[in-house]
Amino acid sequence: MKNKRVILLAGHNFISPGCHTVIDKKIITEFDLVTDIVANVFKRERLMGIDLINKARNQFGDLVSEVNSLNGDYLISCHLNAYDNKSQGTEVLYSYISQRGKELARIAQDKLVKHLGLNDRGIKPTKLNERGGSILNKTKPVAILLEPFFLDDITDRAILDDYMRKTEDAILEILNYIDKQEL
Ligand SMILES: [Zn+2]
Repeated sequence: MKNKRVILLAGHNFISPGCHTVIDKKIITEFDLVTDIVANVFKRERLMGIDLINKARNQFGDLVSEVNSLNGDYLISCHLNAYDNKSQGTEVLYSYISQRGKELARIAQDKLVKHLGLNDRGIKPTKLNERGGSILNKTKPVAILLEPFFLDDITDRAILDDYMRKTEDAILEILNYIDKQEL
């Protein structure tokens, strides 16, 4: 059986690093953390049936064509959420027209909620003009966008490290699911 190629994408880039929190007077950005998550998953992943491609961006080319050039079967885009410094919970986004995206989003949400134990904010069908819309709707792979937790709510390094590790554990289980299923 052919290996399944999974693109694991760190959301944002170093110039436009997404949301952030401040811990011990130090700014910690979403991009810093999602690149850590993606790298750590890559180091820990040992599935024979998965061809894992890590992607973090250093430039502003067209992300959709960059992703499509990688010929992935699946795309997992990693983000962290932010709102009002006090909301917390987990959500996963998918293209509103993709049944397989919805199925994978459901699996991913269950695994993230199981590991993190945070408020289950559900899976979100996403249109082109919404947050994450072009990466979810214009790319060829079955695509989901993870929002495992709200970064701006966290002011304690130990809690952040715990959430990071649990997010990595959940992504490894998502990869294991993709490896096992007959699609
Ligand atoms: Zn983001």
